Amino acid sequence: MGRITLDKVRKTFGDVEVIPPLDLTIEDGEFVVFVGPSGCGKSTLLRLIAGLEDVTSGQIRIDRQDATDLPPAKRGLAMVFQSYALYPHMSVRKNIAFPMKMAGLPQDEQDRRIEAAAKALNLTDYLDRKPGQLSGGQRQRVAIGRAIVREPAAFLFDEPLSNLDAALRVGMRLEISELHKRLATTMIYVTHDQVEAMTMADKIVVLRAGHIEQVGSPLELYNRPRNVFVAGFIGSPK
Ligand code: ADP
Ligand code: MG
Repeated sequence: MGRITLDKVRKTFGDVEVIPPLDLTIEDGEFVVFVGPSGCGKSTLLRLIAGLEDVTSGQIRIDRQDATDLPPAKRGLAMVFQSYALYPHMSVRKNIAFPMKMAGLPQDEQDRRIEAAAKALNLTDYLDRKPGQLSGGQRQRVAIGRAIVREPAAFLFDEPLSNLDAALRVGMRLEISELHKRLATTMIYVTHDQVEAMTMADKIVVLRAGHIEQVGSPLELYNRPRNVFVAGFIGSPK
């Protein structure tokens, strides 16, 4: 289902090599966190996987299929943006239904998926509201709901909680972890927050200047950081 393999994926912008050739395998159902300082290439890597940027060279496989040249809509992935990207004039129900409408799903199937997503995200009572009538956390849930109804092979999150205040962030972190348990779908989650990485990840990918410093479980990275950079980022004693 959601196994994603990057094989020597490289990205340049003009003369600048933002991602030197990089290999990475994400197993089906894994919760993988990309962590690293601002500007290290986390968003670029996620956008390459999503197909929102073209690779300069290398290959991306999704479920063993070569997806390198597939447009975003054909990759079977769903991206959740930090800015929510909701349509302000549409109700929550219509916002969530939008990708299914685009895909031409039958109305009864749309309704079934909306009900299920609303239930999973505690949005049942808010389906007829507009985004402007919702809190930040509720808006974030709508954005996730819009991803869920596509039944993607993987969810891609780019710092989804950075617009929320600290208290709400803790709650949403738990909700996303719960959702991952319930759906058992691959999730790739970008953050520069080591607490999010340590508490949510099955596997953490520590990035620095576009390359991978270390990959491992939170415990592995904490107990055996490869170098001072990783130790500093993970917060382990060194
Ligand atoms: P992060 O998400 O880790 O903060 P980004 O992936 O956004 O980092 O950026 C990585 C590097 O690539 C930065 O140096 C950034 O300036 C550069 N970059 C990102 N997108 C573009 C672009 N469209 N054109 C030129 N440079 C870019
Ligand atoms: Mg970014």
